[in-house]
Amino acid sequence: MTRLVWLRNDLRAHDNTALARAAAQGDGSLLALWLISPGQWRAHDDAPAKVDFWLRNLAELGKTLAALNIPLLLRHAEHWDDAPGVLLELCREHGVRSVHVNAEYGVHEQRRDQAVQAALQGAGIAWHSHLDQILFQPGSLLTKSGGYFQVFSQFRKRCYAELAAHLPTLQPLPAIQPPCAIASDPVPAAVDGFAAPGDALRQLWPAGEAAAHRRLSAFADQHLEWYDGQRDFPAQPGTSRLSAYLVAGVLSPRQCLHAALAINAGEFASGNPGVVSWINEMLWREFYKHILVGYPRVSMGRAFRTETEALAWREAPADLAAWQQGNTGIPIVDAAMRQLSATGWMHNRLRMIVAMFLTKNLLIDWRHGERWFMQNLIDGDLAANNGGWQWSASTGTDAAPYFRIFNPLTQSEKFDPDGAFIRQWVPELAGLNKRDIHNPAALGGLFGAPDYPRPIVDLARSRERALAAFKALDQTPA
Ligand SMILES: Cc1cc2nc3c(=O)[nH]c(=O)nc-3n(C[C@H](O)[C@H](O)[C@H](O)COP(=O)(O)OP(=O)(O)OC[C@H]3O[C@@H](n4cnc5c(N)ncnc54)[C@H](O)[C@@H]3O)c2cc1C
Repeated sequence: MTRLVWLRNDLRAHDNTALARAAAQGDGSLLALWLISPGQWRAHDDAPAKVDFWLRNLAELGKTLAALNIPLLLRHAEHWDDAPGVLLELCREHGVRSVHVNAEYGVHEQRRDQAVQAALQGAGIAWHSHLDQILFQPGSLLTKSGGYFQVFSQFRKRCYAELAAHLPTLQPLPAIQPPCAIASDPVPAAVDGFAAPGDALRQLWPAGEAAAHRRLSAFADQHLEWYDGQRDFPAQPGTSRLSAYLVAGVLSPRQCLHAALAINAGEFASGNPGVVSWINEMLWREFYKHILVGYPRVSMGRAFRTETEALAWREAPADLAAWQQGNTGIPIVDAAMRQLSATGWMHNRLRMIVAMFLTKNLLIDWRHGERWFMQNLIDGDLAANNGGWQWSASTGTDAAPYFRIFNPLTQSEKFDPDGAFIRQWVPELAGLNKRDIHNPAALGGLFGAPDYPRPIVDLARSRERALAAFKALDQTPA
């Protein structure tokens, strides 16, 4: 019986549930499919760097699959509305009797899969959707009153209990399949409308499972035990930089969990604080995916806390552009935004700082920031990005309280104490000492960088403005 595994954000051969189950299901041909959907990617603001990363990883995966006699087929489905027709046609062409996928959790992804499932089942083709992208089935971890957890610490506690009872195991690599006469399709080097990034960015994010595992091992060996103390300092290599691999599914969360447990005597909630803290972050990833399913409005541009929909955000295109381009006159914000443009990635501490700055000091709607991040991040992920933005904007679940507004200058002094990160990304300021570099405006015009802008906003006054806007909300009925 010919089976098909439809790959999406699960671009790996190892520990891939859909692939392993499809391989174990029979002894006919096993085919793999990936859809090229530029219209849909544009609608979702997928970054060119992310599309390029998909393509580069697909090319690597295609080689691994070829060695297993699994041809990788590529088909064009401009939008996901086209997916049912494209899949049906391919299944008919090759006599496919069953299709396996790993579940995805955005509203559009779920609707797409429901439509494809209905079309296939109508033609007598079996559909199998597997839990793979996260550790627990959304809806399986609920509060006593039967709702989705809204508080992370309670969700995490429940995850710990589940993990202690049943640790998810790794799926085997498929056995070599019988020879198959169907040829693989070549993976294009680029897709129209998504400009390939330069070599410098590509070198930062080498493609393929082997590269991902080298990064995971190096992090586990050299940094993981110190993660807790180093994870907030953007000039240090203190975090794993695995997010792009997790988002594209080149690595699985189970592989990460097992790598962490291996150096913490199997403990996830106690033992080495670095390991515990890293697993904690992986559980934030899990939390936000569950939120996406439990509260689908967050997938549709709506605030989790609906009363914040009434907030009087400013329409300030010039301020937004200055933030996007890294020209706000606040060095840590500018350094972070320039890191994003140049590398497709930003350190987590900085994501929080720039998001707070946009939504509080500039009082610009978090949706503008969420969109800019998606359009530029190589690790853009609806759940984590939306969760991070709504956390920073105080509109989300278990979010930062609105009155706890980061001061970007204090954050800069604390987390980039020598100014090394600022010096790397804002070379205009490289000549300043570690005291002055955080706030060159305090030197008047006398800091020798005439091109570097004055701050576009007064931090103290804008803080008061944000507090007033949120306080006004408290009186607004939800
Ligand atoms: C405003 C904002 C936007 C964000 N957008 C994204 C996004 O689009 N995609 C994305 O993967 N992460 C996003 N994050 C979360 C976090 O910043 C990144 O996952 C992290 O910086 C990636 O670097 P790393 O792989 O070195 O992380 P590590 O510190 O090594 O963490 C390991 C993994 O845990 C997960 N993780 C860590 N922190 C978080 C978190 N706060 N929320 C969810 N998952 C987390 C990621 O998968 C990460 O790769 C966002 C955070 C904020 C505040």
